[in-house]
Amino acid sequence: MHEMPYTQSIFEIVIDYAKQHNSSKVKKVYLKIGDMTGVIEDSVRFYWESLTVGSVAEGAELIVEHVPIRVRCYNCGTEYVAPDQFSLFCPECNFFGGEMLSGKEMLVESIELE
Ligand SMILES: [Zn+2]
Repeated sequence: MHEMPYTQSIFEIVIDYAKQHNSSKVKKVYLKIGDMTGVIEDSVRFYWESLTVGSVAEGAELIVEHVPIRVRCYNCGTEYVAPDQFSLFCPECNFFGGEMLSGKEMLVESIELE
């Protein structure tokens, strides 16, 4: 759903970065996507390919690292990894919900230029 604006902003970050470093070719872009964001990697790749055509980032490889949803239970303090955003049940006490420790990331980790 929100992959298009997300990919657009990655694209802008990458293009700015290449400009700042006077590079005419971007080789690799490392992304971090939290599982909580619901961002679909395939959609990001799809938009990326069409956005980058004719730019310095054309043909640049996207390397995506998925960040698991880590939660600290509000009830008993147990930390656990949730399979998705709808399954935030504590394995110890079955309490629903907790403090989100990771999984909401949506960022460009690093960019490799030629
Ligand atoms: Zn608990």
